[in-house]
Amino acid sequence: TKKIGVLALQGAFIEHVTLLKRAIDKHNYDVSVTTVKTASQLAECDSLVIPGGESTTISLIAKRTGLLQPLLDFVHDPSKTVWGTCAGLIFLAEKLSNESKFVDSLDLLKVRVRRNAFGRQAESFIQTCDFSSFIPGCTDFQVFFIRAPIIENVLSNDVEVLFALDDGSIVAVSQQGRILGTSFHPELSDNDIRFHDWFIQKYVLGL
Ligand code: GLN
Repeated sequence: TKKIGVLALQGAFIEHVTLLKRAIDKHNYDVSVTTVKTASQLAECDSLVIPGGESTTISLIAKRTGLLQPLLDFVHDPSKTVWGTCAGLIFLAEKLSNESKFVDSLDLLKVRVRRNAFGRQAESFIQTCDFSSFIPGCTDFQVFFIRAPIIENVLSNDVEVLFALDDGSIVAVSQQGRILGTSFHPELSDNDIRFHDWFIQKYVLGL
């Protein structure tokens, strides 16, 4: 049984747990899900989801609770897979173009990320996206951008752009098929498990 951990220090982790569980139940995958707050919980996992929330807070709590080094070891282990959404993407990124001093990064994803890239006036929006180029048949998926970052630059050939908005802003990338980063929240649209289902198939089960 593969185990997915959802980092539960701060932010929208329950929503990830709920949708992952729904996808597992629906397809009877041999996969389990658990929340992760400690190094011993992390040690049991094969995959880790780092949720949206506030990257500075997540990073600070990780540091204060002694989880930062175990997280670094985990995400840099080539046998593990990782998905960061929004603040999770920021936490994973090698470079930040602004406010970098506030975040102790996991220094993994070879991209440069701009926090709060859509500004503070219109902090959130919902967009229906056509993800069918990487999720078969998924032409109409509703995602939430909440004070979202964008990926300004891809810094390595290891990083594949999965999705960009019409204006060219990169909002989903994959590094070596092992690390997934998304600017948006696909876990806030109540019933739609397709994105999580795809993550399980591709990143957890390696199908
Ligand atoms: N703006 C937040 C940050 O910088 C991210 C917002 C989110 O995760 N929804 O961490």
